[in-house]
Amino acid sequence: MLDSSTDLKSMLSDPSLLQTQAFINNQWVDGENGATFDVSNPARGDVIAQVADLSRADLARAIDGAEAAQKKWAALTAKERCNILRNWYNLMMEHQSDLAMILTAEMGKPLTEAMGEISYGASFVEFFAEEAKRNYGETIPGHQADKRITVIKQPIGVAASITPWNFPNAMITRKAAPALAAGCAFVARPSELTPLSALALGVLAQRAGLPAGILQIVPSNDASASGKEFCENSKVRKLTFTGSTRVGRILLGQAAEQVKKCSMELGGNAPFIVFDDAVLDEAVIGAMACKFRNNGQTCVCANRIYVQAGVYEEFTKRFKVAVEAMKVGDGFAGADLGPLISKPALAKVEDHIADALSKGAVVATGGKPHDLGGTFFEPTILTGVTQDMTVSKEETFGPMAPLFKFENVDDVIAMANDTIFGLAAYFYAKDLSRVYKVAEALEYGIIGVNTGIISTEVAPFGGVKQSGLGREGSRHGMDEYLELKYICMSV
Ligand code: NAD
Repeated sequence: MLDSSTDLKSMLSDPSLLQTQAFINNQWVDGENGATFDVSNPARGDVIAQVADLSRADLARAIDGAEAAQKKWAALTAKERCNILRNWYNLMMEHQSDLAMILTAEMGKPLTEAMGEISYGASFVEFFAEEAKRNYGETIPGHQADKRITVIKQPIGVAASITPWNFPNAMITRKAAPALAAGCAFVARPSELTPLSALALGVLAQRAGLPAGILQIVPSNDASASGKEFCENSKVRKLTFTGSTRVGRILLGQAAEQVKKCSMELGGNAPFIVFDDAVLDEAVIGAMACKFRNNGQTCVCANRIYVQAGVYEEFTKRFKVAVEAMKVGDGFAGADLGPLISKPALAKVEDHIADALSKGAVVATGGKPHDLGGTFFEPTILTGVTQDMTVSKEETFGPMAPLFKFENVDDVIAMANDTIFGLAAYFYAKDLSRVYKVAEALEYGIIGVNTGIISTEVAPFGGVKQSGLGREGSRHGMDEYLELKYICMSV
């Protein structure tokens, strides 16, 4: 259990990873006015750190530093950039336990999940370190006899990120690693709820040998001002955002003024479909991982579980046994589910449950805040959920699994696609022709077939419709930080 920052520091084998100042031009600095904001441990509610609260002017200075450093970084060979990124990856893995403890302390997820997030986050650094060397251009047969056409890829310049609290490490590395590999400089403004994981990444980047200014980490409690600075500062050539669709729309609107290149990883409303030919025990395992990982606070987690009528009762029975076996508690104390991030997050889960119950759904298990108090919530299953309930339209972002019943393939495809979101979808089925047809018919960027876990650095992650723009991970992830330049030569 964690009581305070003193406790956290004493738990770390390398206490210097716990940084509370901003990281700008390879220096650890306070903001111009010395302000700080509190970071709390959601499992206990106590303050574990006071972090430098940067103003817009501070952010502008960080952007200046990034711009000044970027061209020299881009001029290194790909192998030189690769070696530094590779050092960063090695350091992250060497300090995996410490990074995981910092993450659990500020975010609440179980320590084993935090360990998993650090290796997932580090995997992007490893992957893009290598990918830097494969930033191939192309030659195109000339359109006239004397013409030679070459296409090269160049770094876009300074990229700036705004990231959420639910994956405080990986949401940053998934952006920073391809940007740095491409030759961009990167300015990261982490969530005000979880800046410590980001700052610890800065400590390791410095040790890895990243040149001054190439990675700036700028905590700020004023999200709106940070977004405005990134959108209105013309030195920022690329904005990359992960968070809600609501905030994504605001940022896209602001970025329109300068026609700024944007990547948006936004909200989801993932359907998880169990067909009558599914192997039910495997579907239960998949649904557990997909719904309850990170306490349901994951953009790709199952938000709506559709079960075909013939297996609905049996699936519900087996799923309930698995859900009731989960232990809720402090992430440092071996729990399967930690606290929700905040009181508003808990209120949202309660609202979705109340709305569903008022329209005829039934609680199969859970359904209310946990006896532990704070923001702990009982893992919950609702049955008899229908398309008119709020949960079918909005992500709950909590440990509540709503079970919908369906009769046939066409019905469930229509219901699954009946949303403004299109990030991830899952289904369990064995019939091969059904597998192909359903995978093609679902309007989502990511499809899990007979699996509830789809995130990996080697595949393109991202959504369609209002779930976002662009992809992260895989070779496509680096293109988000590159511009194509076509050179036409007469010979
Ligand atoms: P959020 O949109 O409220 O906040 C995300 C970030 O934006 C935070 O750092 C926040 O401080 C900042 N922010 C808030 N208002 C802002 C403004 N006006 N201008 C600029 N920045 C602003 O989302 P959240 O609650 O932190 O995270 C959960 C959301 O993120 C969910 O919708 C989830 O689906 C989404 N998410 C998406 C992905 C993905 O890859 N698609 C991954 C993780 C989370």
